[in-house]
Amino acid sequence: MIDLQMIRDARSRIGGHISSTPTEPSSSLSELFQVPIILKHEHRQKTGSFKLRGATNAILQLSDAEKAAGVIAVSTGNHGRALAHAARAVGSKATICMSELVPQNKVAEIRRLGADVRIIGQSQDEALHEVERLVTQDNLVELPPFDHPHIIAGQGTIGLEIIEAFPNVETVLVPVSGGGLAAGIAVAVKSLHPNAKIIGVSMERGAAMKASFTAGKPTQVEEFRSFADALGGGIGLDNKLTFRLCQQLLHDVILLTEEEIAAGIRHAYLEEREVLEGSGAVGIAALLSGKVGHLSGPIAVILSGRNIAMDLHRQILNGKIDPNHEAF
Ligand SMILES: *Cc1c(COP(=O)(O)O)cnc(C)c1O
Repeated sequence: MIDLQMIRDARSRIGGHISSTPTEPSSSLSELFQVPIILKHEHRQKTGSFKLRGATNAILQLSDAEKAAGVIAVSTGNHGRALAHAARAVGSKATICMSELVPQNKVAEIRRLGADVRIIGQSQDEALHEVERLVTQDNLVELPPFDHPHIIAGQGTIGLEIIEAFPNVETVLVPVSGGGLAAGIAVAVKSLHPNAKIIGVSMERGAAMKASFTAGKPTQVEEFRSFADALGGGIGLDNKLTFRLCQQLLHDVILLTEEEIAAGIRHAYLEEREVLEGSGAVGIAALLSGKVGHLSGPIAVILSGRNIAMDLHRQILNGKIDPNHEAF
């Protein structure tokens, strides 16, 4: 499975290719909640999200023949951008399949990196069928967004950086969709600090991991538009790794409304001077919502991405957006 050594190896492998992002106390949040709060500024990662860690760790382990064949993935946008960047860096080519729910600004960035972009249907599942078809037809190598040991180990390197900077961390708030980020961080942090609590955060509109916990097995959910667009999509009915790992290692998964996510984006900008996309702001949003309950600190909050369309960001700051928006 995934262990601490795999994550340490991932760290040496990807070290020269990614940024070690700042891990810093937030005085405003620490004061507000009267407990030490640490922000992991992973939205400042190259490509604007943590996804570059896993994608780079996976690409660097391909054979020359696999790199020459090209890589393919389904994505809600950020994995596609990371994979396109990492593929280009090693002279490979990426094909990225996405649904129509993926915001235009994300699609444009992936095209700009030279990837072959396919937009298919209204859900991740439909886009995934296109991946499967192209893998068979063109012999491409699939590197999925979360359910793959090299992806999970790459994302887990964030956990190592947190524990090195703050060895006494008690709680980590992590955005959860497919669970690659949460599983990797949980393995790293709990291997070094078994009593730490890892708490997942997701949106109410289509939280596949939470629905799967409740059902006791990977479960499909309907997909909706959300400010946390990067948290959409299923975990895969044939999920091999992340469901089990998250079920074992996460203390809880908290679900947020669209209003609460918007409040997190606003707080990050106005109090922390940070631009975050909805998915990157759910940790802060969870604290502000009061749904986290009493937690022992220090609490680390993962700011996972910043790839929001700036006109949407402006509308959210101005409070003009209807949470049932269709407008982006
Ligand atoms: C992909 C993504 C997540 C969720 O990661 P999973 O590994 O799918 O759980 C959270 N935030 C951002 C910004 C993402 O791009």
